[in-house]
Amino acid sequence: MNTYDQLYIDGQWLRPTLGGSFETLDPSDESLIAKVGAATTEDVDLAVKAARRAFDEGPWPQMSGAERATVLRAIASGIRERQDHLARLEVRDNGKPLPEALWDIGDTAGCFDFYADLAENLDGQREQPVTLADERFSCVARKEPIGVAGAIIPWNFPMLMAAWKVAPALAAGCCMVLKPSELTPLTALELADIAHQAGLPAGVLNVLPGLGAEAGAPLSEHPGIDKLAFTGSVPTGSRIMQAAARDIKNISLELGGKSPFIIFNDSDIEAAVEWIMFGIFWNQGEVCSATSRVLVQRELYEPLLKRLVEQTERLSIGNGLEEGVLLGPLVSRGQYDKVLQAIARGQEEGATLLSGGTRPAHCDKGYFLTPAIFADVPEDSWIWQEEIFGPVVCIRPFDDEAQALRSANDSRFGLAAAVMSRDVERAERVARRLRAGIVWINCSQPTFTEAPWGGYKQSGIGRELGEWGLTNYLETKQITRYDSQQPWGWYIK
Ligand code: NAD
Repeated sequence: MNTYDQLYIDGQWLRPTLGGSFETLDPSDESLIAKVGAATTEDVDLAVKAARRAFDEGPWPQMSGAERATVLRAIASGIRERQDHLARLEVRDNGKPLPEALWDIGDTAGCFDFYADLAENLDGQREQPVTLADERFSCVARKEPIGVAGAIIPWNFPMLMAAWKVAPALAAGCCMVLKPSELTPLTALELADIAHQAGLPAGVLNVLPGLGAEAGAPLSEHPGIDKLAFTGSVPTGSRIMQAAARDIKNISLELGGKSPFIIFNDSDIEAAVEWIMFGIFWNQGEVCSATSRVLVQRELYEPLLKRLVEQTERLSIGNGLEEGVLLGPLVSRGQYDKVLQAIARGQEEGATLLSGGTRPAHCDKGYFLTPAIFADVPEDSWIWQEEIFGPVVCIRPFDDEAQALRSANDSRFGLAAAVMSRDVERAERVARRLRAGIVWINCSQPTFTEAPWGGYKQSGIGRELGEWGLTNYLETKQITRYDSQQPWGWYIK
């Protein structure tokens, strides 16, 4: 694609009805990448009506899972054909280092393949007999697509977050209107183009870049939407939930986190440092499941901090397209300022800033930040309790397992958690007592398309990925038949 100034509605590229646009910038040098067409209420209405027609009258929901799988696999191939271009586009739009972007795009294609397999399996599992206590009746439970889904996604894994929603929705037989983040809309538009080339029928997928208030809000309020799937911050999630409540839309929410990582004394120090760093510096710490609160058992605390600072100060920071860079810029001026404010607040709250938290000397432009390590962070401080969404790790010591668990679970969030110990029994025991939807043992962050993803508490409602991701887009219908030759005999004797 050469330009990104149009919206993808009903299988066509259309200029926004009101002719508006917004700019998307390269966070490494603040230069303009593209002017992007800005959808508004009028375009949302066109897109939802197109999706509605495609669902109510079009072939997609009626096709077999195997037929839909063919299109999903063609989308996966189309993504792989453009892999290098898409990864570079993601680096320019989001800032992440190229090897991470290549990883994301590979996972995006893998997600379409995975849900192609599940679409095929659905053919054999669509109807399941239900045994009733009353033998005069027979019953089946049948899985059907939920209808038209509206998807609203964030900017941290732009194309992958789109795939987590689009692939299972299409596999289920739903039609969708997708609104990418205004900070990173480009790969979602590429996805529309790829889906079009792959032969997806008109109206099944519509892609509307736009601002949250101008495109996201009307999408969440539109009466033609049956299901809302949202990934983003807690305050926006709460607004989406309120919009959905008005006409009882089905919702799934993947929200923020402040995930703990408990490290016991018997852990290997090098492995602990590696996973702490991966847990919070990967993707610039702009990761919902980032293990941003680290609890280290007392004996290991000082030596671990020393080693963590040494390794962190070696991280190569720069433009994500440069060879060897492991930490790119933050996504936007707004996010950069938010993270800097959080660092200043941490210092005011009495936490010790051991390293980082400033602009690197060699970067005079762009939203670059040296990764920040806070030690002795007070438990009631804002930086210990709230999501920063940047390369900022908060660390505290603990004495025993009970104290670590209490501290780890003392959060309004419950997306992820991690535990490290050579004592497998202890690690397994702690994993079962952590109040979070995702728990890692002896690692942090590895994410697999096959496994359920989602949070407890204010981190969300529902699960994405795996078979759970498909269930998000399915309704269950019972079909019950009266088999008896005897009259019912209630009114007419
Ligand atoms: P955000 O809530 O600001 O925006 C997310 C999306 O919502 C964007 O597309 C935005 O345009 C849209 N939006 C904004 N206001 C809206 C409104 N009033 N109505 C409808 N849509 C609106 O979040 P963000 O800054 O893009 O992303 C960061 C947040 O996302 C973090 O809190 C992070 O933890 C969370 N996140 C969670 C997961 C997960 O799987 N749980 C994954 C990635 C990101």
